[in-house]
Amino acid sequence: MIGVTVLGSTGSIGASTLDVIERHSDRYRVIALTANRDVEKMAAQCREFTPKYAVMADETAAELLSTELKDAGLDIEILAGSESLVEVASLPDVDSVMAAIVGAAGLLPALAAAKAGKRILLANKEALVMSGQLFMDEVKKNNAVLLPVDSEHNAIFQCMPNGYQGEMEGVGVRQILLTASGGPFRSCDLNELEAVTPEQACAHPNWVMGRKISVDSATMMNKGLEVIEACWLFNAEPSQVQVVIHPQSVIHSLVDYVDGSVLAQLGSPDMRTPIANALAWPERIDAGVEKLNLFDVARLDFEKPDYKRFPCLRLAYAALEAGGSASAILNAANEIAVDAFLNGQLKFTAISSVVEQTLTAVHSVAVNSLDQVLEADQEARMFAKRLIQ
Ligand code: NAD
Ligand code: MG
Repeated sequence: MIGVTVLGSTGSIGASTLDVIERHSDRYRVIALTANRDVEKMAAQCREFTPKYAVMADETAAELLSTELKDAGLDIEILAGSESLVEVASLPDVDSVMAAIVGAAGLLPALAAAKAGKRILLANKEALVMSGQLFMDEVKKNNAVLLPVDSEHNAIFQCMPNGYQGEMEGVGVRQILLTASGGPFRSCDLNELEAVTPEQACAHPNWVMGRKISVDSATMMNKGLEVIEACWLFNAEPSQVQVVIHPQSVIHSLVDYVDGSVLAQLGSPDMRTPIANALAWPERIDAGVEKLNLFDVARLDFEKPDYKRFPCLRLAYAALEAGGSASAILNAANEIAVDAFLNGQLKFTAISSVVEQTLTAVHSVAVNSLDQVLEADQEARMFAKRLIQ
């Protein structure tokens, strides 16, 4: 039995992960589940999967969970606080860690899994955006196995040669083509963007996701974060990662080889495919995903991204080129701006302005330690908050 910790189990990726695990209960055993505050969902998951540990990052939520589960007679240890997230990511009986907490909160537990030499199924792209070099170094140093769950990166992983070691030229790869749906505002009138509501921004045409990543998809900051993620995962230069808008979300990304071959991974837009791929790799397991029907898809379209419509994409490339802590600053400012937008304090079009002004004001430094990453993150958050106020 493969022991699994699911970080962020009550979220969209967390729930899809448990769906796949449930289909293969002879193969996977849930050791720990974690969430921030959603007591009800966590209690239901505890009843169904009876993990050894359930962690609520929020202390009050942990107390409520204890009360909720008191009469169920389950042998589950309930823990609280962010240190407990780190603890359950590195337990000896855990083989695989699904890193599916949203945002910077996911960095330390994902890093703990790397330090403990686990198989890391990485959905939390923010961890790599913030601390790419440090994260990759820890993976290598501790013989951890890092498998991408983000659908595009999982697609690229599947299209790269087996055993790819981070030498694109060496294996004849010319370019990575990272597909993007373009989100809900791909073709609307540019003047309409200012008045966009959180509900409109979260109504993604092809994917059902958490609210933060849904807004990121609407601004295309998500694709910007993914470009940075791809550069770290596959040791690519920014110029070697081309974003391609593909509105049908059927091709999840492509790899372009020097002999002219372009390999793509296709599938129905359902995160259970990359989740199952990462869980079972190098084997394949049923993920419960609807078979792709090419006759229904009928056509595949491609467009170049427009930086005027999607300034966040340009900002992400700029942060990547700047290097050092710039990506952590970009990520922190974006988290604050998206939160303010979701709470009705900021216009949709101001998200990119907050990120741009924060990137200009907070100076990027070379990163040699985690403390430097966390400092840059805090400084950028404070600056962005003041800007919004
Ligand atoms: P979500 O909002 O649905 O779920 C987030 C999870 O993280 C929840 O379980 C929540 O309780 C937990 N969480 C939030 N804040 C926390 C905190 N401070 N401390 C501890 N736990 C906390 O998000 P999601 O859509 O599942 O996305 C999760 C991650 O996966 C994100 O990094 C996202 O970019 C990435 N991702 C998601 C998708 C998708 O289809 N949803 C696709 C690719 C990548
Ligand atoms: Mg993605």
